[in-house]
Amino acid sequence: MEKQGEQKASRLVFVLYPFPGHINPMLQLAKILHSKGFSITIVHPEFNSPNPSDHLEFTFIPISGNLVESKVSPGDFFDFISALNKNCEGPLIECIPRMSKAEDHRDQISCIIYDGFMYFAQSVADQFKLPGISVRTSPAVTILAFAVFPRLHEQGYMSFLESVSQDQGPELQLLRLKEAAALTRETTTYAMLELRAALTDSMKRCSAIIVNTVDFLEKEALAKVQELFSAPTFTIGPFHKLVPTFSSSLLKEDTDCISWLKRQASKSVIYVSFGSMASVDEKELLEMAWGLANSEQPFLWVVRPGLVRSLNCLALLPNNFQERVGERGCIVEWAPQKEVLAHDAVGGFWSHCGWNSTLESISEGVPMLCKPFFGDQNLSVRYICDVWNVGLELESELERGKIEKAIKRLMEETEGEEMRKRAILLKEKLKLTLREGGSCYNSLNDLAEKILSF
Ligand code: UDP
Repeated sequence: MEKQGEQKASRLVFVLYPFPGHINPMLQLAKILHSKGFSITIVHPEFNSPNPSDHLEFTFIPISGNLVESKVSPGDFFDFISALNKNCEGPLIECIPRMSKAEDHRDQISCIIYDGFMYFAQSVADQFKLPGISVRTSPAVTILAFAVFPRLHEQGYMSFLESVSQDQGPELQLLRLKEAAALTRETTTYAMLELRAALTDSMKRCSAIIVNTVDFLEKEALAKVQELFSAPTFTIGPFHKLVPTFSSSLLKEDTDCISWLKRQASKSVIYVSFGSMASVDEKELLEMAWGLANSEQPFLWVVRPGLVRSLNCLALLPNNFQERVGERGCIVEWAPQKEVLAHDAVGGFWSHCGWNSTLESISEGVPMLCKPFFGDQNLSVRYICDVWNVGLELESELERGKIEKAIKRLMEETEGEEMRKRAILLKEKLKLTLREGGSCYNSLNDLAEKILSF
C-alpha cells in the first residue's frame, strides 16, 4: 500500500466498543490506516481491554465506563450500550485536550473514528470541532434496519421507515427487510429505540461512514444508505483481508487443530463455530454433538467456554461421544478461525452468521450452514442463503436428525457442491476488488484522502 506524504499524516483517535466481534475489525481498520502513514491512539473502556503489547505501534488509553457502579450486565445488550455511552463521554472529553497539546504536527488529532455503537463519540467530536467517522462492523443493511423507527414520527424518523420499506429492489426484498420492520414495530423496547435513534443521529452528523463490506455484496443496501445519509460511505473491503492476521482474542487459539486438519481429505471437514457470544442450552449441545457424530463427516468444533451458559461445556459431552467419533472429530475451545477457513480440508462452515465469520467464510470460498441467533445474524443469513446462494439455513430447532441431514446436504450432495462452486466464484470476485483499481482498493485511497482533507 502506498504511504501518504509524511507531512500530512496525523493522529486518528479510535473509540472501541468492547466486544470481540467489534474490537477485532476496529483494530484491523486501525492497522490499515496506520499502514497509510497515520498515527493511531486507541481509546477503550476498561472492559475486555485489548493487550497493548500485541500492538506496539498504537498508543492505548483506557477509560472508565463505570460499569460496575452502573450495575448493568453485558448480557443486557441495550442497557449495557446505553451505560457505556453515558459513562464514557466524560472520560473521553477529558482525554482530548491532553492529546491535542502535542506540538508535533503529526501528533495533532485529525479525527475521531468510532464504532457506531459508541455514538457518544460523535458528540465529543462536535464539541471539539473535530470530524467524526462512524464505523459499522456489521453489514450495511443493518444501517437501514436501525433507521426503522416505529413510534417516532414527530422526530422525522418515519420518512426513513417509508423510504426503507418502499420501492425495494430484489436484493432488499430477499433480505425481508419489510418483515424486519414489521417485527420491529412489535418488539421495540425503550432502550432499543434509544440506541437506534442515537446511532442514526450520530450518522447524520458524522463526516464519513466506513462499513466493513464490499460494494458488490450489498449493492442496494449501500445505495439506500447513500440516499439517507449525506456523509460519504467508504467500503474498503473485508478489513481482515487487508492486514496480516493478528491475534487479539480474549481466548487462546488452539493451533493443534491445524495439524489435525492436515490429516483430513480436501473439502471434507465441516468447521463449526458460533462466535464469541451466542449460546445454546445443554440439550441443544447434545443434539449438536449427535448430529455431528451421525453425519459421519469429519468435523472441527469450537466448544468455547460459555457456549452453554455458565457451565463447563466440554464436561457435558457424553462419555461415549469421543469413542463414537474417534479421529473424525476435533474439538477445541477456540480456533485460529481465519487459518482454519483458509485450509484446503475445510469444505463447509456451520456458523451463527456473525458478520466477521460471514466475511471470513466467503473470503475463503467456504459455503455455510446457517444457524443465526440474534441481531444482524438474521440479516446475514438472508444474504448467504437468498442473495449470494452460498449456504443453507438450519431453520428449525437444533435436533440431531435435522442436523445430520443438513450437514449431508452441504457436504455431500450436489446442492452443496453447487454452493461451494458459487462460494469460490464469490471469493475470486472479492479478491479482484482488493487489487489495484478494484472498488475496495479505490475506496481505501479515497478514505485516506478524505481524512487528509479534514
Ligand atoms: N473466532 C475465532 N476463533 C473461534 C471462533 C471465532 O478466531 O474459535 C473469531 C472469528 O474469526 C471472528 C470472531 O471471532 O472474527 C467472531 O465474530 P463474529 O462477528 O462472527 O461473531 P460474534 O462473536 O460477534 O458473535
